Amino acid sequence: MQTEGRPLKKPCVRCLLSELDEDEIRAGLLEYIRNVPADRRVSGEIYQSRLAQCRSCERLLDGMCLECGCYVEIRALRPEADCASAVKRWHSAI
Ligand code: SF4
Repeated sequence: MQTEGRPLKKPCVRCLLSELDEDEIRAGLLEYIRNVPADRRVSGEIYQSRLAQCRSCERLLDGMCLECGCYVEIRALRPEADCASAVKRWHSAI
């Protein structure tokens, strides 16, 4: 894995967030999102619609949903996922 020309260190699977480099965490998450196969992600239109709902939600903080602890850009990719709130702002696509 590389980001902006510099190789990423192999991710530590047993490290805590406090022990990891923030830039590498972010780069790793974005790489993960890019590599989710087409058959395991919603369309770009649905994805952007879901993220628009998250962006306007008071439960979004630093890219994470305070209801479930997910990174919303990962949660919103999954066709079977829905908004984590009791009052759903977006719904499953299947
Ligand atoms: S998943 Fe739902 S509750 Fe969580 S940030 Fe997005 S809109 Fe808000």
